[in-house]
Amino acid sequence: MQLQQSIVTAGGIYKRYSALLEKLGINTFQDFLYHFPHRYDDFSQIKMISALIPGETITVKGTVLSIKNSYTKSHKTLQKAVVTDGTGTLEVTWFNQPYLTKSIKTNTEIVLAGQTERSGSRTTMLSPEYEVLSSSNTETLHTGRLVPVYPETRGISSKWLRRQIFKLLEQYKFILSDTLPSEIKQQYNFLHLADALNLIHFPNNYEDVEQARKRLAFDELFYLQLKALHRKQMWKQRKLTSPLKVDEYRTKINTLINSLPFPLTKAQSRELNSIFSDLQSDQPMNRLLQGDVGSGKTIVAALSIYVAILNGKQGVIMAPTEILAEQHHKSLTELFSPLGIQVDLITGSTKSIKNKELRLKNIEGESAKSLILNPKSNILVGTHALLYDKADFSNAGVVVIDEQHRFGVEQRALMREKGNNPHVLTMTATPIPRTMALTVYADLDVSYLDEMPVGRKPIKTWLVPTEKRKGAYQWIEKQIKDTRSQAFIICPFIEESENMQSVKAASVEFTRLKTEVFPNLKLGLLHGRMKAKEKDQVLRDFKDKKFDILVATPVVEVGIDIPNATIIVIEASERFGLSQLHQLRGRVGRGDKQSYCLLFAQAKNEQTTTRLKAMEITHSGSKLAELDLQLRGSGDLYGTRQSGYKMLKIASFSDKDLLMKARTAAKMIYSKIENYPQLSAQLLELNAQKISQD
Ligand code: ADP
Ligand code: MG
Repeated sequence: MQLQQSIVTAGGIYKRYSALLEKLGINTFQDFLYHFPHRYDDFSQIKMISALIPGETITVKGTVLSIKNSYTKSHKTLQKAVVTDGTGTLEVTWFNQPYLTKSIKTNTEIVLAGQTERSGSRTTMLSPEYEVLSSSNTETLHTGRLVPVYPETRGISSKWLRRQIFKLLEQYKFILSDTLPSEIKQQYNFLHLADALNLIHFPNNYEDVEQARKRLAFDELFYLQLKALHRKQMWKQRKLTSPLKVDEYRTKINTLINSLPFPLTKAQSRELNSIFSDLQSDQPMNRLLQGDVGSGKTIVAALSIYVAILNGKQGVIMAPTEILAEQHHKSLTELFSPLGIQVDLITGSTKSIKNKELRLKNIEGESAKSLILNPKSNILVGTHALLYDKADFSNAGVVVIDEQHRFGVEQRALMREKGNNPHVLTMTATPIPRTMALTVYADLDVSYLDEMPVGRKPIKTWLVPTEKRKGAYQWIEKQIKDTRSQAFIICPFIEESENMQSVKAASVEFTRLKTEVFPNLKLGLLHGRMKAKEKDQVLRDFKDKKFDILVATPVVEVGIDIPNATIIVIEASERFGLSQLHQLRGRVGRGDKQSYCLLFAQAKNEQTTTRLKAMEITHSGSKLAELDLQLRGSGDLYGTRQSGYKMLKIASFSDKDLLMKARTAAKMIYSKIENYPQLSAQLLELNAQKISQD
């Protein structure tokens, strides 16, 4: 059996359980070995029965004197066994497992593990882990040791997983190939892969766990880095026949910059220069522009596109939603139409309008295509759906992807296939900590707008105590009336994906606010289960001031621009990461009026209060991301899950030391990758897939 073999094809028990295993992410034999315990039960202490005291977690070995089923009044069954080890007898009870009397027979040797309890004057065990010993089964897996406890699913218990994994480890331990170069293993004193896998599942002590974890975590980071380096290399390898010219057009570029109603910030000029030097190179740019909400990424993108146009090429800009695409279309039209540059918008809606017109005129096929791909358009603005559209990017010199966290490696690769190696600029308003970016975005060049345009007022942020809720509502109503501004109220974040429960919660909250709290104001509702069109309509209505307050689930996080909204209320704010709160907060403060962010928390303890208080004083997205990483680990870091990046299994982005080690090692190895045939073969496989999976 190959490690990569799908378990379904192996038949037997694997096939039978495959649907359940899939739920745990186990599809191949390798996945089995990499299904790591999330904790261990410490049953390593073995004691004599006579020495047992209630309330300890221990293992007992003995002979079964008797076992029988008995029935309770409610027709449930109990299994009672008496076990002796010569020093005394122990009574053990299980519940509703009538088959136990078949698997545990009188006179067999048994090992029991769990917590002891008091029963009258005696010590007993309820539902202990058990293991029947026989001549063929001498090594205990479920008792008498650190016992691995796994992520489970209904129908697949840790006990079952333990047995399978143990069996597979036995089978593979001599043939498991370890592709981590031995010089690296030596340098860092790492275990061999087979040992690491063995010990992560069946350690003798916690030191073993740590040793194994370190090695496996290193692997994870090392291979991520190696793949990223390879992707970077592949991207750069495609040489451009005609690099874009910048110096020739300096005067024109400067004229446009000088015509802006504001001077560029130092950060904008600096990053623009990096981009310009990318554009002049004969390798396609693959750059990520990070910058807080409002830091002015759009103008940087627009000026990059301008270079393409001056060079006789087109520009493309993609946004995650229709409404954002419309916003870009509007602002780019304002900027470029005086220069005679045409900006076109393609979204689901505009397309269906055009299609309808076409149908009326009875035009089909090729001519329909040519109308959509207006050859006269210099700049094409659309949603990410453009990628899957017929639109032709072959003359695109620069492609900009806005709000990159919705956009993964896969799409970047797809876009690249579609175009003719365009320069690509991705933009995100959710900066991630530097060390993490080095891994997650290692294939990109990263720019950061670390400076806000002058005159921006920081959003006043308060963590509101529960007793001030009513007062806060009154204040909001007054603000809305006095300053004719609008407010967002963000309902609790319930699940990663928006499910019916959170939709229901939002609707209930909406009704409560509408009828009980703000009967004198107009309220709208937005949630993730609405169709894209409905959502866009609600946002448009809000923008047109058809209502004062928008009650929403956290779907509003992506960069919608409603300059008249100056208040955002976030309920159950402790459930969000700081970066995400910051992102939500960025929905306001877009105009020149003072804006406010009110945080409510349901569960308050000192830790959450301290964490949330950081929002009051910190206004930098990257600082908050750094804090998030320290306080909650990378699992919660906003944007990482959506980025199409499968989260790390065992390594952590907060382990800076290991991260840097992996990075150094990967660079060193990649520089002479030809010496490592197995590793190069793996990377070549990556090429073949085109789209890399991390
Ligand atoms: P984001 O980085 O969130 O995409 P935008 O590009 O939408 O930010 O810019 C936010 C607002 O700031 C826009 O109205 C834009 O015109 C304005 N802006 C951009 N750069 C500057 C600057 N250097 N000085 C003043 N205002 C600026
Ligand atoms: Mg933006």
